[in-house]
Amino acid sequence: MKPLSAILNALPPTKIIDSSIDFSKYIPLDLSATNEELMDSRPENAVEFEDFISNYLKKNNAEVAFGGYIEGRTLYQRSTIFRNDSIPERNIHIGLDLWTKLGTTVLAALDGKVHSFKNNIGLGDYGPTIILEHEIENEKFYTLYGHLSLESLDNLTVGKIFKKGEQIATLGEAAVNGDYAPHVHFQIIKNIEDYWGDYPGVCNSNDLNFYIENCPDPNLLLKIT
Ligand SMILES: [Zn+2]
Repeated sequence: MKPLSAILNALPPTKIIDSSIDFSKYIPLDLSATNEELMDSRPENAVEFEDFISNYLKKNNAEVAFGGYIEGRTLYQRSTIFRNDSIPERNIHIGLDLWTKLGTTVLAALDGKVHSFKNNIGLGDYGPTIILEHEIENEKFYTLYGHLSLESLDNLTVGKIFKKGEQIATLGEAAVNGDYAPHVHFQIIKNIEDYWGDYPGVCNSNDLNFYIENCPDPNLLLKIT
């Protein structure tokens, strides 16, 4: 059987936010501790972070900042869901984030149906989240969209069918999206186990090999670069 990464690689490029924004308006964003600009300004809350992102976009004449697959980040230290006395610290991001304006439409990456959805409440968590199920060449896999608006979950049902490029949601505000600047967290998941409307998007370094295998690089599918 063909590996999922090869199946994804062979598909045409796809967009998961507002399809009118050309990939030439996307700019890579480094949120690791090696980004000196980030470490200098150290945005401490969603408002400061949104300023940081919008300045970065303006400076680069861009509309979307993207990145974060297998990126070690310090920004999760503020939240006990990533760091507390009983779990090994989780700080490696295993999805792809697209940072842009509040309310931007979020689109189905591929034809699929709703596997599950949930409002994952809590500081640093996903807030409203939708997971779609796809099947290509007899390979079943899932795409996760996190940090959505509350309205995105209205009138949604498990099994609802979406076509590639069809709107499934909009980006949520900090008050509902886990307290982040507006963005969508996009992740591909091979084996979703018993997860429902949720799946880890950040992991501990000891589990990294498992997650690299189970969650291939979303850019294999999107083909932004
Ligand atoms: Zn993310």
